[in-house]
Amino acid sequence: MPVAIIVHGGAGTIAPERSDSAQVGCKEAALAGYAILQAGGSALDAVEAAVRSLEDNPEYNAGTGACLDKNGNIELDAGMMDGRALQVGAIAGIERIKNPISLARKVLESEHVLLIGKGAEQFAWEQGIEQCASEELVTERQYQLWQAARDEEEPRYYRRQVGSAGGLTPKATGDEKHGTVGAVALDMSGALAAATSTGGIHDKYPGRVGDVPLVGCGFYADETAAISCTGHGEDFVRLLIAKRAADFVAGGQSALESARSAIAVLSARATGTGGLILVDRKGEVGFAWNSSNMSYAYIHDDMNEPAAGL
Ligand code: ASP
Repeated sequence: MPVAIIVHGGAGTIAPERSDSAQVGCKEAALAGYAILQAGGSALDAVEAAVRSLEDNPEYNAGTGACLDKNGNIELDAGMMDGRALQVGAIAGIERIKNPISLARKVLESEHVLLIGKGAEQFAWEQGIEQCASEELVTERQYQLWQAARDEEEPRYYRRQVGSAGGLTPKATGDEKHGTVGAVALDMSGALAAATSTGGIHDKYPGRVGDVPLVGCGFYADETAAISCTGHGEDFVRLLIAKRAADFVAGGQSALESARSAIAVLSARATGTGGLILVDRKGEVGFAWNSSNMSYAYIHDDMNEPAAGL
C-alpha cells in the first residue's frame, strides 16, 4: 500500500519575509509524520507527530505561539479522527497543555468525543499529558499582536508608537493572523487519519470555539478520505466543510477536485475565507484555499523530499 502525508500551517495572508519559515516548518512536520509511515506506523501516529512538530514551532498559531483572546489568555482547540475505526477525539478551550493534539488523541482513545476547559485539563492530568504554565505558550509576537488590537480600539492618535518616528501602529493584518495547523495521512495498512490544532482566531471572544474541535467541520476522516481545515471557523462550522470534502471523494471526485469543490462551497455560501488539505485512500493529496495563502507541504512514496508551497 502507498503511504502519504500532507500538512498545513494555516490560511491567511503570509508576508514575503515569513514565507520561507512557514514552508520550512511544514516540511519538517511532513517529514516527522512520513518517517513514521515509512516505518510501518499508523496514520494516527503520523498526524499526531506532524501536528506536535507544528505546535512546538512558535511560527504557528497552535501550542507554543498560539494567539490570545480579548482578555489576553490562551484557549486552545484540537481535534483528530481515525478514519478506519471512526473514532474521534477533541478538546476545546484549554490553557495549560503544551501539545493539545496529544490530549485529543487520549480523548479519541477514551469513551469521550469532546472535552472542554477544566474537565479536559483534569483528564490531561489523569492521562499523564504534559502540562505547562500558559505563559510558556505565549510568544512575544502574539503578545504584540494582542497589544496592537488593544490599541486599535483607541482613537487613532493614541496609536502613535514611541521611537517610531511618529508612525502609527500598523493594523494587524491577515499576515500575522494565520497559523492554525493540521495533518492528514494514509498508512501502509490503508488507514486514514486527520488532525487539526489551533489557538483560534486572533483577539477572539473568551470561550469562543471555532471549527477545529468539531468533527466534520475542521477535520474528518473515514475509509475514503481524511481532511484538515483552516480559516474562518464559524463558516466551516455552518457548512460542515470537512465532511463535504469527504463526500466529494466518496462521490468519485479526485483528491484535488474534492478539495476545490469544498472550498468552492465556502466561496459560494460564506464571506469567510480559508483552505483545506486532503488525502484519499489511493494516497493522492489535494489542497485548496480561497484566502491569499495557505502554507502546506506533502510527501508520498514517489518523492525523495517534501514539496511545499503557499
Ligand atoms: N479555523 C480556526 C478557528 O476558527 C482559525 C484558523 O484556521 O485560522 O478557530
